[in-house]
Amino acid sequence: MGERIERLYLKIGGISCSFCVETIEKAVSRIDGVESVRVSLAHEELIVYYNPKLVTKDEIIYTLEELGYTIKDPRRARALEESMEELRRARRRLIKAGIITIGATILMVSMWLGLKTIFHPYIAMALALSIMAGPGLWIKKRAYNSIKRGILNQHVLLEIGALSGFIGGILGLVIPRIPPGELFIASVYLTAYHILGDYTSAFVRVRSDQAIIKLLSLQPKRVTVVVEGNEFVKSIDDLRVGEVVRVRPGERIPCDGVIIMGKATVDESIVTGEPTPVIKNIGDDVVGGSICVDGTLDIEVTAVGEDSFLGRIIKYVEEARAFKPNIILILDKVLRYYIPFVLITGLASFTFWIIYAYIYGTMDLIRPIYALITVYVMGYPCALGMAMPLAIIRSNTAAAMERILVRSGEAYQVYPYIDVIVFDKTGTVTYGRPKVVDVYAEGIDRDELIYYAATAERYSEHPIARALVEYAEAHEIYLGIPREFHVYPGEGVSAIVSNKVVLVGRPKMLEEEGIKFSDYIRKMITNYAGRRLTTVAVSIDGVCMGVIGLRDLPREEAHKVIQKFKKDSVKTILLSGDNKMTVREIARDLGFDKYYGDVMPERKVKIIRGIQESGARVAMVGDGINDAPALTQADVGIALATGTDIAIESSDIIITGGNLMKVYRAKKLLEKGYRRTKENLLVAFIFNGVGVPIAATGLLPPTAAMIAMILSVSALLINTFRGL
Ligand code: ADP
Ligand code: MG
Repeated sequence: MGERIERLYLKIGGISCSFCVETIEKAVSRIDGVESVRVSLAHEELIVYYNPKLVTKDEIIYTLEELGYTIKDPRRARALEESMEELRRARRRLIKAGIITIGATILMVSMWLGLKTIFHPYIAMALALSIMAGPGLWIKKRAYNSIKRGILNQHVLLEIGALSGFIGGILGLVIPRIPPGELFIASVYLTAYHILGDYTSAFVRVRSDQAIIKLLSLQPKRVTVVVEGNEFVKSIDDLRVGEVVRVRPGERIPCDGVIIMGKATVDESIVTGEPTPVIKNIGDDVVGGSICVDGTLDIEVTAVGEDSFLGRIIKYVEEARAFKPNIILILDKVLRYYIPFVLITGLASFTFWIIYAYIYGTMDLIRPIYALITVYVMGYPCALGMAMPLAIIRSNTAAAMERILVRSGEAYQVYPYIDVIVFDKTGTVTYGRPKVVDVYAEGIDRDELIYYAATAERYSEHPIARALVEYAEAHEIYLGIPREFHVYPGEGVSAIVSNKVVLVGRPKMLEEEGIKFSDYIRKMITNYAGRRLTTVAVSIDGVCMGVIGLRDLPREEAHKVIQKFKKDSVKTILLSGDNKMTVREIARDLGFDKYYGDVMPERKVKIIRGIQESGARVAMVGDGINDAPALTQADVGIALATGTDIAIESSDIIITGGNLMKVYRAKKLLEKGYRRTKENLLVAFIFNGVGVPIAATGLLPPTAAMIAMILSVSALLINTFRGL
């Protein structure tokens, strides 16, 4: 009772495919005192819950090391170093194995050409020995350690295959009916293939790490901190929130922060994707990793490390490598039974052909041995175990490079095949930076109207609120302090300003509150809508005293994006809380198929659900302001993150930099990535699924099996890495 359970987090190296995950999970969960184990292939990490009274950390680590895995320093930069080192090791093994394989091939060809000498079998044996005891030795160790724990994995499969080739070869030296040369060469090829597979997966992992290395390299290692006017240089790791850093022209900004002194052009394109450099002033936010082009800035740190914008992008990219679309989860389950199946098939066909030879008195020993070896060649699973994860990792990395962060497997399975795409208007289809273009005041001074409205909006984050405050500042209207400030999402705000009750929001909302509009105000509302302006009404102490018209321009690329989706036969819908007339005009200008105006946040969800009930798959694109529930309800939620805010948990895909075209680009990328994944599966399936039965006939020479295998792996690799 009340046993204390501890959590051990480890970064491990040497995981090459789904089988390794199985092996580790089985081996570790069998240790006494281990409660549960979780392994992530893509992350190469392991979380173990264990009872420290029954087992120690070291014992768990020892088990892993014995299985041939390396424990890495959890600190990322080091881990990257180590995965590079692992790749170098795999490459060295591959080169050695390659040389031996070339030797074996020359020998093989010379035998085909009839150049058989009595030395041939011995040369072949020497080659087989050198590869199995040289670059292939680690496989033996791993196979042995797995078998010791009762685990059947690909290493075991390979060892049985290679050893039976070798033993067959030795038998062949004494039994005239068995060709020793071919069998020795078969075990050379089989080992070489395994080494190639190991190298390949190490290569893919390092490639996908490179996306992260690139992001990490955007962070300077040392920063200049200002304390009471004096400058100190220190490591970025020691930087804390609240400190002040100084950034000079041409330097990278080391962290997220607010400018407290200076002015400069800042280029954020590499970090956020925001294409044009912007001039930043005191009070403006900056994001770590961007370049300060032409001024010196003193910046108060607001976020460092994993909390920063860059840190969160890195986290999303890492996460994206860990998730698995359903289809891969199913595959993982299938693979669990696969190795025992192949092992049994090999042994069964071996036995079958022995009995067959005995009954029919053919004395044919080649057939059973060929059957055994080729079944293990054709059944070698990493084509299957690697094929799909590789394609997904590859495609996520490609997307991340374009600042499209894919966060769920569903995104792959659904987004390319959507029927309807719904766009939120404010901040998504438009820039989300409305400007006040017209103010109409009735029975009150214009500046006074703005004073009340902007003061009430002072603490709101909504783009309209910001526009009102900016307008007030530009007109040198000094704002007061609102009391009892209240937000009505998708409607407006209320507050007490200078002891008067102020309501700012959609004219409809004011109407529902029982506030009357004069005829002229009604006329202005219609007039604004006709001019495609977003209209907010302002009431003071229950009387509507004016309306304000704002213009929020549609993004430059919006029209093109809509046309692209229409061309793909995807129905496009514009959804907005803004007034119907304005929404209609914008929808018409941009070519939307349908529009909904005057929509409250909850109704956004209902509209999406309604479309889903008609059987259509729906994607929703929003900016996270007033549309998070709709993003969740949609089959695929796409968040368009502008500026530095990317903490949008309700989305499947996050696009930073605010370029709407990326919404379409993401669809294309995922479509290609998913197609690649399925193609890889097909290649792997044909190879394993068709190859094993053919091999079981015992008629396929091991060399032919090797050639088939090399072709299938090459096909997988080429298909995975050719441009997306
Ligand atoms: P969209 O659905 O286009 O993204 P929102 O749901 O954010 O728009 O807002 C819908 C409407 O509600 C706005 O057009 C505006 O009339 C009103 N509104 C929302 N928040 C505010 C606010 N803070 N101040 C004034 N009006 C607001
Ligand atoms: Mg919005």
